[in-house]
Amino acid sequence: MQDKLDFLIERVKKQNPQANIKKIRAAYECAAHAHEGQKRKNGEPYIIHPVSVAEIIVEMGLDTDSICAGLLHDCIEDTAFGYKEIENKFGTAVAELVDGVTRLGMLRYSKEQEQFEDLRKMFLAMAKDIRVILIKLADRLHNARTFQYLPERKQRDKALETMEIYAPIAHRLGMSRIKWELEDLSLKCLDPIGYNEIVEGLKAQSEQHEEFLKGITERISGKLAEAHIENHISARVKHIYSIYRKMYAQHKTINEIYDICAVRVIVDTVADCYNVLGYVHDLYKPIPGRFKDYISTPKPNGYQSLHTTVIGRAGIPFEIQIRTAEMHKMAEYGVAAHWKYKQGLDRKGNEQAFAWIRQMLEAQQDTEAEDFIKNIKVDLFADEVFVFTPKGDVVNMPAGATPIDLAYAIHSAVGNRMTGCKINGRIAPIDSQLKNGDIVEILTSKEARGPSRDWVKIVKTTEARNKIKQWFKKECREENITNGREDLDRELRANLLYNGFYENGEVFKNTLDKFSFNTVDELYAAIGYGGITLTKVINKVKDDVNRIRRANEQVERQNQPQPERRTSKSTTGVVVEGIDNCLVKFARCCTPIPGDEIVGFVTRGYGVSIHRRDCSNVHIDEDPDRWLSAWWDEDMAMDDRTARFSTGLQISTRSRIGVLSDVTVTLAACKINVHEISARDLNDGFGVINAMVDVAGVHQLDNLISRLRQIKGVLDVTRTVDTN
Ligand code: MN
Repeated sequence: MQDKLDFLIERVKKQNPQANIKKIRAAYECAAHAHEGQKRKNGEPYIIHPVSVAEIIVEMGLDTDSICAGLLHDCIEDTAFGYKEIENKFGTAVAELVDGVTRLGMLRYSKEQEQFEDLRKMFLAMAKDIRVILIKLADRLHNARTFQYLPERKQRDKALETMEIYAPIAHRLGMSRIKWELEDLSLKCLDPIGYNEIVEGLKAQSEQHEEFLKGITERISGKLAEAHIENHISARVKHIYSIYRKMYAQHKTINEIYDICAVRVIVDTVADCYNVLGYVHDLYKPIPGRFKDYISTPKPNGYQSLHTTVIGRAGIPFEIQIRTAEMHKMAEYGVAAHWKYKQGLDRKGNEQAFAWIRQMLEAQQDTEAEDFIKNIKVDLFADEVFVFTPKGDVVNMPAGATPIDLAYAIHSAVGNRMTGCKINGRIAPIDSQLKNGDIVEILTSKEARGPSRDWVKIVKTTEARNKIKQWFKKECREENITNGREDLDRELRANLLYNGFYENGEVFKNTLDKFSFNTVDELYAAIGYGGITLTKVINKVKDDVNRIRRANEQVERQNQPQPERRTSKSTTGVVVEGIDNCLVKFARCCTPIPGDEIVGFVTRGYGVSIHRRDCSNVHIDEDPDRWLSAWWDEDMAMDDRTARFSTGLQISTRSRIGVLSDVTVTLAACKINVHEISARDLNDGFGVINAMVDVAGVHQLDNLISRLRQIKGVLDVTRTVDTN
């Protein structure tokens, strides 16, 4: 183990002379202690893994904190050495890095295709610090190197995840070296036969390739030496996955693929790049259309180089890449190379580095990446947020979404049982705004308690809102019916439609039909949960009742001898003992109105005549059989707005000019309908005004009387009794 540490330290010293070796050693000690006794799947001590990850991180050229985080990266998850301990010993920065890597580690491969896109996006969106992504890539790279020790199924899952998420991210970040290795290692698991076919094929041709590349290298370097251009040439066979893709795309076997070899020339200056290109084209015949100038037009991920494909001896084509040393570093390490040039970045520096990545991602405009980039942009800048379930599933929510939205996004049953939530392990308010990378656990109860009505206002997504409404519609049926019924009845009474609705079968049926309800309970329930507004229902009932009333009145007028003016509506206003729906009229002598105590007198031929109990014409003892008890119909709403009962008023006044007009103005102001009004002078400085007015009942009449009494010149106001 000591060897491995020493080797790491050597690499660090070489790569980064300013690195804090003491801190790195301390991190190693902690990790070794924390993982003591743990073994990897291949039987090695666990500590080998973090040290190997740290080595990759050193290769990338990252700073001391990243190296320490690499060594400690599996501590939070797997050991008792947690965030607090790391923070105390190595500072917040290292603890944050390790925490970030742990969270990214929760990304889980899922079989649903769309999930990949979300995962890639999330990966970038949730890492506040680019180093977290780089450390995670290093972690995955080392794991990929040891895929073979995993059970077969897990191998394939991990390999697919690596191919679909980690390699594309490495590509976007311009880290081609890591990308290639990830791709080849994954391919080996995903298609071992195809992979081996290529490996074997390459092996069979390796002498040929070697010789071929050697010839080319010598020829080019000779030419460049003549021209005094400092250079470094590397010749290689392309990586396996790129050959594999070519074979599939072109339906060819390995023996039919020719441009398997590639040569790279690295020089000092951009001018030399173009010079070398000239010499190469001198030596070999270029294939038309295959020259690409990525120096003047860099690839979206920042890659710069000249590419050309030429025909070698024996007519075999090969590709030559020409670039400067700096471009080469960028090509191999991408974002990490950028990091490397800005050693020891403070927080602000990190933000700048991240801003740079954003720019780079924004600049990526090739069609392949277009969607990806469009989406990333959205993420990095605003309206989406990615959170984890405790199982590690990623859920993509709109920004501003709450745990309630998440619960309903998972399943409506989860939402309906939700009692609370934990965010990152702590109990949190259910209306908290979710942030990228939050691990959100929805707490539920066994029985569906159901959502709270306020939730409709809290949630951000229409999906959640609809599901909550749906619940109230379904689950609270009884309550909705009760509430709906109360609301409807109150409103019907207020509009004097109660009887009209409940007693007239036609109105009732029309109303239900109009809104497609089968039963009145359905109507109540809909009102209860807000599926239909009361106004709509009332308007419908009002229309129907009025229409039917008009029709009935017409029929009545035709069939009956013309009744007294004020009796037309009496059938719905008064209940008479022992007689259902009898024809009722109001006695003119005392003009009873709702609220008065009343009795009925059976007339000959005109139904029952209703008198006030205290009318001077009431003589029950004289003819007890014809006097009947009578009551105002309780269900008849006595509403101030709708006057329906005529009654007489007598107003005593001083003779004063304008008193009559004051009285009529007051009546109008009280919205009282006046049938008759007459004024008489009594010749002794006094006068009297008689009026027949329509009121709903005694309450309204009392109000009216007290208003009239306030008029200057009015002495008294009384109800008319026995004018005849
Ligand atoms: Mn690990």
